[in-house]
Amino acid sequence: MSFTLDFFSLKGKTALVTGARTGIGQAISVALAAAGAHVLLLGHRDNLGETKEKIEKINGTYETLLVDLSDTSTIREKITPILEKHEIDILVNNAGIIHREPAAEFSETEWLRVMDVNINSVFILSQEIGKAMVARNSGKIINIASLLSFQGGLFVPAYTASKHAVTGLTKALANEWASKGVQVNAIAPGYIETNNTEAIRNDENRNKSILERIPAGRWGEADDLAGTAVFLASKASDYVNGHVLVVDGGWMGR
Ligand code: NAP
Repeated sequence: MSFTLDFFSLKGKTALVTGARTGIGQAISVALAAAGAHVLLLGHRDNLGETKEKIEKINGTYETLLVDLSDTSTIREKITPILEKHEIDILVNNAGIIHREPAAEFSETEWLRVMDVNINSVFILSQEIGKAMVARNSGKIINIASLLSFQGGLFVPAYTASKHAVTGLTKALANEWASKGVQVNAIAPGYIETNNTEAIRNDENRNKSILERIPAGRWGEADDLAGTAVFLASKASDYVNGHVLVVDGGWMGR
């Protein structure tokens, strides 16, 4: 079939985006809705208002779901009724948290919380939603990785370990499911202006040294991830499997 712009359309598709209340998850949710998908916005507090308003403004459609991804023992039971109601074509594992503390003092509670939200929940959701995709021989899973999927970072050992694991899981699932019509890929955002990076943006020295290394000369905005997410969610990427697509203003090439 020859290429047409329709390859990028998500009309008739249902997408689930975790961490949809703010930042990158919000931008991806609005972008998928703009491309035609019905978007299930997953948050863990009842205040997805801004994302809902942005989707309403573009006449998109959505539903909201509340699931605390740090409570991994309850994710499967909360996701089951959603799977009974919807065939999910696109899963975006975006929710993520960061805890900054020197490694020698790093709290074990925080280590486990970061791992639960950033990687353990990603496995559980990918398994539950992915097996339905495999049964239908069709689906897209997009995991949000990080530059710290490649580098060590500073004072964020749990985050770094979890984001290395995200790319490993992406490749492992892609190897099993590429032949079953399910594409599993990841996006590794560079330094993006969101709540996640507020602390380092407020640190004058860190901010300056980060900016000096970004060839594009600016921090990214959440909307800089939108086109990449639509591409990986669409037919246009049907032969892309197990790839980690870096969107970083050139940081990794420096
Ligand atoms: P963000 O605005 O803090 O977004 C994180 C989202 O995850 C929030 O909507 C948050 O909801 C949600 N979340 C946190 N704990 C949760 C839980 N227990 N259950 C369900 N949802 C939960 O930051 P962001 O930058 O957009 O982060 C999105 C993803 O991008 C993360 O995986 C992050 O690691 C990754 N990333 C970000 C950057 C960057 O420079 N910003 C770079 C690389 C990768 P609440 O706000 O309601 O708690």
